[in-house]
Amino acid sequence: MTSVPREQESRPIRPWSVRSWPMWETPSALLTSILLVELTAAGLVATSALAGGLPTRVDIVRMVILGLLGLTHTEAVLRTERLRRRITAPHHIDLSSVWIFAGAIVLPVTLAVVVTVVVQFHIWARTGRPKAAYYRHVFTTATMVLACLGASAVVGRAPSTLTAPALLTLVLALLVFTTVNTALIAGAIAMSSAQPNLATALGDWDDNVLEVATLSLGGLTAVALLINPWLVLLVLPSLLVLHRAVLVRHLQEAASIDGKTGLLNAATWHTRAERELQRVTRGREPRAVLVLDLDHFKAVNDTHGHLAGDQVLAAVADALRSEVRDRDLVGRFGGEEFVVLLSGRGGGDGTDLEAVAERIRRRVAALRVEIPTADGPLTIAGLSISVGGAVHPDGVGDLRELLQIADTALYAAKRAGRNTVRMESLPCGREQLPALIPSDPVSDAQ
Ligand code: GH3
Ligand code: MG
Ligand code: MG
Repeated sequence: MTSVPREQESRPIRPWSVRSWPMWETPSALLTSILLVELTAAGLVATSALAGGLPTRVDIVRMVILGLLGLTHTEAVLRTERLRRRITAPHHIDLSSVWIFAGAIVLPVTLAVVVTVVVQFHIWARTGRPKAAYYRHVFTTATMVLACLGASAVVGRAPSTLTAPALLTLVLALLVFTTVNTALIAGAIAMSSAQPNLATALGDWDDNVLEVATLSLGGLTAVALLINPWLVLLVLPSLLVLHRAVLVRHLQEAASIDGKTGLLNAATWHTRAERELQRVTRGREPRAVLVLDLDHFKAVNDTHGHLAGDQVLAAVADALRSEVRDRDLVGRFGGEEFVVLLSGRGGGDGTDLEAVAERIRRRVAALRVEIPTADGPLTIAGLSISVGGAVHPDGVGDLRELLQIADTALYAAKRAGRNTVRMESLPCGREQLPALIPSDPVSDAQ
């Protein structure tokens, strides 16, 4: 299950005072959408409850089994989950969909919703830092309920035999579940973000694969329940191992990403750039580096404060990422300096690279960063960036040399008045390199 982002930081909440609820600070369009989703979920559940017949004893036993396993699962992974929750916002997948999806397959819809609400409430109470986040969990639960209703509608009554059409229906239900849940959460993330971005809203490839893997485990749980309820116990150990594997992946990612911008941090950029250059060397492709530095960024901080400065950095990072290809490596070198490794670009004389650099420069100059403040939205515009680039046409020379040349070009751009691109093309052969600047830009920037 994926949860919705945090829009504002936590502060004391007085649940008895409706006016003090932080959800009222949510922008009105987002708030309306959230309430609409919650009301739709509540309305559909009420209609299904009225239309459905009384559950059988077997239904109730299955519901209790799934509910208890859901609670046991949450308790067993509490520490891992609390840690993971801190590093995976806005996309947090807690793997509870195993039980919720299984419920959607084997239970009458009202009982499946009971499992969803109980498991979600328990997660909120135990790992969701309830003081801060209750209204986000209500929305998350509503999206799960809607996903559950969708999957349940596809399946109808629990299949009594596991024929090929029944298994096909199960796959279809899985697709409906994940589509409904992902679309609603992605919509909320996009609406709550100052610079909506489809990739951020949908989460990365690994997150989506994890969600599908969790639902597949849920499908197997449903099948096990239909064959023999004791078999369901076998799901729990695999789930615990999955939690640990996912935690390790998230820790690795967190250690390689710059928290403010989401770009690679300097150390990781360096390691990956070295690896990429070794790969490229074999093909003798042109290699190029851009070093970029925001102009007069101190003035942004001095005028609007460091928090606004941080949001500008994030917006510039987004702009940078969207102006290069996915395979190009974009990193934050430190402060207001960024670096990009472009590989396999045509135009060995640097013309292609210069066009990319120019595009980035123009994009930053046109950037308008909207920042919500207590006195209404603040727009920061009039930014500019200086860019130094180095291209090596024949793929000879190492990363350090490229960085040094690009850094020299950056200083030339600054001296030329800023908001400018300066390029250097390395001559073929190391002995002809221009004099290198004495310092290492990587360690300087850190
Ligand atoms: P120049 O055009 O010469 O590059 O001027 P500049 O003001 O951009 O450069 P300078 O090196 O004088 O100042 C860089 C500023 O960047 C100072 C520092 O406070 C700010 N800065 C560095 N890291 C961060 C950060 O993470 N967040 C914020 N908000 N500001 C930062
Ligand atoms: Mg600087
Ligand atoms: Mg600067």
